[in-house]
Amino acid sequence: MEIERIICDRTRAIDASGIRRVFQLGRDIPDKVDLSIGQPDFPVPDNVKDAAIRAILEDRNGYTLTQGVPELHERVGLHLAEDLGWPADSGRAGSDVGTIVSTGTSGALHIAFLAILGQGDEIIIPDPYFVAYPHMAKLCGANAVRCPVYPDFRMTAARVEPLMTKRTKAVLLNSPGNPSGVVNSTKECNELLELCRSKNVLLISDEIYDEFTFEDAREETGRPGLGKRCPSPARVDRAWEDVLLVRGFGKTFGCTGWRMGYTSGPRPLIEAMSKMQQYSFVCAPTPLQWGCLETFRTDMTAQVEQYRQRRDMVVERLSKVTEIVKPGGAFYVFAPVPKKLELTSREFFERALAKKVLIIPGDVFSDRDTHFRLSYAVADSVLEKGLDVLEELMRG
Ligand code: PMP
Repeated sequence: MEIERIICDRTRAIDASGIRRVFQLGRDIPDKVDLSIGQPDFPVPDNVKDAAIRAILEDRNGYTLTQGVPELHERVGLHLAEDLGWPADSGRAGSDVGTIVSTGTSGALHIAFLAILGQGDEIIIPDPYFVAYPHMAKLCGANAVRCPVYPDFRMTAARVEPLMTKRTKAVLLNSPGNPSGVVNSTKECNELLELCRSKNVLLISDEIYDEFTFEDAREETGRPGLGKRCPSPARVDRAWEDVLLVRGFGKTFGCTGWRMGYTSGPRPLIEAMSKMQQYSFVCAPTPLQWGCLETFRTDMTAQVEQYRQRRDMVVERLSKVTEIVKPGGAFYVFAPVPKKLELTSREFFERALAKKVLIIPGDVFSDRDTHFRLSYAVADSVLEKGLDVLEELMRG
């Protein structure tokens, strides 16, 4: 059969993920130092694993409601109330706030984009961006308008406002950001939401790395007993009316392969997204929903502290050879290739690859080709080895 005839234009318009391609390239290199990885290097906590295993053994393996098992759904609502000051009945029938337990953060973003973006609609995303954003928009026939946030990687209202048009449906904030790790301040979050409100535009807040926010980027929430947390536009008064919150379990608890996340926001929007969930993912994997219920009793402070130390090591070493914007969270550094080398990020990536060090060239995340992403979600000894090579290459 002529399979090429069968594949449609929508699919042809989309490139395979640049990260996957780097993955493939690196697969056949023995003894490589892999700093391309976008997932934590610690195991899933035992209590979380046990809860998922128990669910399987106890025959909790069937479909759940579209929005998730009631226990997890309720628990997320409680977390929104504690963390963000959202209504105490969040997620429950009759509440202004809806929640869907999703198949990863990606699953939440997909059903959100399907629900809001039609042909020719626009969504404003940061540049550099998480690789999936533009393609997810394209699948809906929509246009992901890039908001360049170089050199400090802050998506501010001042940078977003000139890009807004009559077709803008949403602005997507990703803080801490992939690939930069940069965390927006409370003031920046609040101003962005204020702008979105004034233009009748939805603010989607992709907070997949929220727990991976280091002490220096955390801010007082003003909420009693909560202490310092990752700043979020979702803490603004009545934010649930205008913010679609997207969060994940994969990065925080080391279970990226479980494909678990949740999304919460205005009930009518969540109801529209629920239709998309029904006819695509149906529900998130049942036993893993039970596993994730346990995450709300699991403290990851030690792991986050370990990642902070690694962040400090990377920043200290690479600052000697290039201009680093110190990331406040996630587990990436997005570093410019020193100008004196006169190399694109792709060329620099190839030089590092020749020395068996795998990083991701910046053009995978951006319309620019000037930076590279390094992930420090690896053992200290591996990281040190990689930094030795990169430092030497960057000295030129
Ligand atoms: N958003 C961002 C910013 C990410 O970095 C990622 C994963 N790398 C995702 C969403 C998707 O995460 P998940 O595995 O939960 O689908």
